[in-house]
Amino acid sequence: MGAGAPYVRARRFWSAGVLTGHRRRRAWSVRRERARFETKRNGRPRPGAGHILHDAMFPPSRLTRPFHLPALLLSALAGGAAVSGCGGAGGNAGGQGSGDDGTIVVTADRLLDGRGGVLENHGVVVRDGRIAAIAPAAELPASGERLDYPGGAILPGLIDTHVHLDWHFGPDDRLARGAPAEVSAMRAVENGLNMLHAGFTTVQSLGSAVDGPVRDAVARGVVPGPRIITSLGQLSQNTGGAEELAAAVHRLADAGADAIKIFASESIRVGGGPTLSQDELDAACGAAAERGLRTLVHAHGPESAARASRAGCTTIEHGALLDQETLDLLAANGTYYDPNMHLIFVNYFENRDRYLGIGNYTEEGFEQMERGRVRAVETFRAALATPGLKIVFGTDAVAGAHGQNAREAVARVREGGQDPADVIVGLTSLAAESLGLAEEVGTLVPGFAADLIVVEGDPIARIEALHEVRLVMRDGRIHRR
Ligand SMILES: [Zn+2]
Repeated sequence: MGAGAPYVRARRFWSAGVLTGHRRRRAWSVRRERARFETKRNGRPRPGAGHILHDAMFPPSRLTRPFHLPALLLSALAGGAAVSGCGGAGGNAGGQGSGDDGTIVVTADRLLDGRGGVLENHGVVVRDGRIAAIAPAAELPASGERLDYPGGAILPGLIDTHVHLDWHFGPDDRLARGAPAEVSAMRAVENGLNMLHAGFTTVQSLGSAVDGPVRDAVARGVVPGPRIITSLGQLSQNTGGAEELAAAVHRLADAGADAIKIFASESIRVGGGPTLSQDELDAACGAAAERGLRTLVHAHGPESAARASRAGCTTIEHGALLDQETLDLLAANGTYYDPNMHLIFVNYFENRDRYLGIGNYTEEGFEQMERGRVRAVETFRAALATPGLKIVFGTDAVAGAHGQNAREAVARVREGGQDPADVIVGLTSLAAESLGLAEEVGTLVPGFAADLIVVEGDPIARIEALHEVRLVMRDGRIHRR
């Protein structure tokens, strides 16, 4: 974790070596990560703690048309006939829409490499699910299928480092709790499709046991969806003390968790104070590190975030109430920071009636969130001004928010004041780095997985372009065009 350069403020333009570069050697950690995707699991996932309502917030999908799962699955079964402009999803590498030799060439006015580099009038050559080359328009191969997007921009597939894949509204149109696993799993597939079609080709779900089989089905290619990374469960003060927390980490690791989610503070709806001691966080994040797993720590207040950073945990989630001293500590320790300053709040406000009266979604809790939102924007601005702080993109997408993830990116620019180029790095290469996938996705270079999207216009000039997705490709397969 945290080994890469702080790309967040970098402006690195491509060298000729990168443009014509050979397949990159992959770090062992990436091979392990891929092996995890490809390995069948026999263990039954056991969540470390019960279902916990937490701090997240969202409207009926208005920016992205929601998917109707039965139609899509029927389409996939029938051989991939297009539904709402969606290419087929199951099947073999190379997939639909590729030319005779399996090559696809994608061109657009500009290409954003995910690390701050911009190229004009270039194309991406995709073969066997990977980026084979990136070259000026005049030097692109004549063979293969050609997909031209004049006026568009090619970007790496977007990454959301914090979603809840299975959260959904039930038959009564209110937040579903305790839904049967098979219902939750199908809703997780549907939510995944909505995010994939919005340009998110990788999501980290923090996370439920049903995420595991969904992740594995997507990885097998039998169900379309984004690349899924999941914690399978969550640890909290309800898990027990240091010993019990460490034991729960090992159980989740045995069950196939890709990462460990830990609640170290209260919900912002009840104040955000610390709930785990330094010893407990040392034990939990230490056990995860032993198993080679990253740790994502829900921490609102300074005390809980500082403890997590000192314990060597990977990423602080939310952190709406952090002070400057704590932001500096995160930067110094290389702890990633995933502020969720917009979508979580507005989603709750827009779906208030669907949440109110359930758990700590009380009138008072909503008032706390109104205040919390203002504070979160202030904290975000302080974070932007903190040198060296690695700010990654995450939304905390819960029921109602899946597919609208890019609204967070727009708000980070329009309300938070972040440079659009930095938002895009946070959405791509830096997010990939925080997930241990820095040599696999999040950057457009030869050898990487062919996860890419095309949006209308230039998102650096107008960040709202991220809402106008024209093409979605994951692992070389077209899911939307
Ligand atoms: Zn969350």
